[in-house]
Amino acid sequence: MSEIRIPNIYKKRMEERKMNTNNQLTVGILGFQGDFLEHQHILSALKVNTKIVKYEDELDDVDGLIIPGGESTTINMLMEDDFRVKLVEKAKQGFPIFGTCAGAIILAKRIIDGTNFQKPLGLIDIEVKRNAYGRQKDSFSVVINIFDSYIRAVFIRAPEITKIGPKVKELASFEELPILVQEDNILVSTFHPELSANPILHSYFLNMINQYKSKLS
Ligand code: GLN
Repeated sequence: MSEIRIPNIYKKRMEERKMNTNNQLTVGILGFQGDFLEHQHILSALKVNTKIVKYEDELDDVDGLIIPGGESTTINMLMEDDFRVKLVEKAKQGFPIFGTCAGAIILAKRIIDGTNFQKPLGLIDIEVKRNAYGRQKDSFSVVINIFDSYIRAVFIRAPEITKIGPKVKELASFEELPILVQEDNILVSTFHPELSANPILHSYFLNMINQYKSKLS
């Protein structure tokens, strides 16, 4: 019988997994497209381990996941079915996920005007409308107050949260619309916190991950 050959990419991942034996948390960032490196920079500045993930087996190496802003149709298309199934399974068990802008669309239960977008993950009970604040040229930023701290919220072809379910908490709003919401382990912002100098939302998400990890141990 011929020997099974393990491709180098898998060997490398297996090695990395063995090396990550300390108890420090690792934040996964979905790395197909969009602002994943900006999230990584903020977390590195907070001295947190990060890992860019794209495939199902890599979800075993991380304690939470950020789905960045970018183009939701592209990111959604590139997520493979086994990745999607595992992410939903893990989320149901409390695995924390933070979706920003396009990430919010991917996590939503319902998308209106969801042209070319068939399969949102449905992990948070919100309805969103894509590109509701206009096109790229209509991008803007506003300073908002969140958790008693000021943060510059950058909106780029942002979705609007048009409905929230009874269990969803509104954490921040702008012009009477929710822009930061949470349902249990799922956190969603319609703006780009990774483009702000203030890491308060990343710290908040790290707290969610720490709580999840302490329940596991
Ligand atoms: N409008 C984009 C989409 O539908 C989201 C824009 C963003 O993430 N900045 O995917």
